[in-house]
Amino acid sequence: MEEMEHVKCLIIGSGPAGYTAAVYAARADMKPVLYQGLQPGGQLTITTDVENYPGYPDGVKGPDMMIDFQKQAERFGTDVRYGIVTAVDFSGDKHLVTVDNKKKLSADSVIISTGASAKWLGLESEQRLNGFGVSACAVCDGFFYKGQEVVIVGGGDTAAEEASYLSKLCTKVTMLVRSDTMRASKAMQHRVMNAANIEILWNTETVEVMGEKAVEGVKVRNRKSGEEHVIPASGFFVAIGHKPNTDIFKGQLDMDEVGYLKIKPGSTKTNIPGVFASGDAADKIYRQAVTAAGTGCMAALDAERYLADKGLH
Ligand code: NDP
Repeated sequence: MEEMEHVKCLIIGSGPAGYTAAVYAARADMKPVLYQGLQPGGQLTITTDVENYPGYPDGVKGPDMMIDFQKQAERFGTDVRYGIVTAVDFSGDKHLVTVDNKKKLSADSVIISTGASAKWLGLESEQRLNGFGVSACAVCDGFFYKGQEVVIVGGGDTAAEEASYLSKLCTKVTMLVRSDTMRASKAMQHRVMNAANIEILWNTETVEVMGEKAVEGVKVRNRKSGEEHVIPASGFFVAIGHKPNTDIFKGQLDMDEVGYLKIKPGSTKTNIPGVFASGDAADKIYRQAVTAAGTGCMAALDAERYLADKGLH
């Protein structure tokens, strides 16, 4: 039988958190092995311009930035591999990981940076115009709609916060809420209701995002009256929640009801010694590339300390 590969530090995921963890782990001689997952480079590979990542004064394309991240991780010897971690077993001393339902590895330390995925409405037009006016991140893309009219879908804290953010840049923000109540906190509701240029359309659903090559408007339907009309807009923001990519850790790692991994405050420690969580998989509040990178760094430092304490490094 083939001998099981053993690694000192296994990193799961290839967004800013995973690659930053890799840079630190590789430079500390932890010989990290990184599995890239379903979407090599992570969520930034589906955005266009990134202008809020420090160090790029002229901005950078999301996919280009992730190539830079990967190169930097590889420069110090990170073993970056294609492959999806399909199962884990954290019940023993050595952490067992299965890749692509086949290959098995054991690891002294594991850094989880599997990220999160934005939820989408599931409309064909939404998918077709993704990156051409359709976005799931107002903080990332709002700037491109300065002085223009936009539509945002959702009634939670994210939607309210993003509507409020957009209202400072855009001439008009139309917020589509599918029922007659908003899930956002009272304070956030108050803020959007009191903004002069935010209009809330209750009981309203999206029928279609209009436009051939770029967003030109949004066709909506009132769910009570059935009436439809088109709202002119050049941006369409979807803010109906995110789903952390943590299904494979269910039953083994502590997580909240949505699946965000729980970590010991001020660290990246999960409930299992030697398993650390970084990036959006453990962050439902900030969700920025730079914060993900920051926690990736923390995870590598935490892992290094753990290995040293155990006499494994
Ligand atoms: P939520 O799950 O709280 O809200 C999702 C919103 O999207 C709801 O209004 C929901 O409507 C709506 N929605 C879901 N699916 C659809 C659909 N298919 N079509 C139209 N609307 C839809 O997600 P959030 O991302 O807003 O927040 C996630 C968590 O993070 C929450 O706990 C929130 O409090 C927290 N958060 C806190 C912040 C802060 O404290 N500053 C900032 C951002 C988030 P319905 O209610 O009808 O289901």
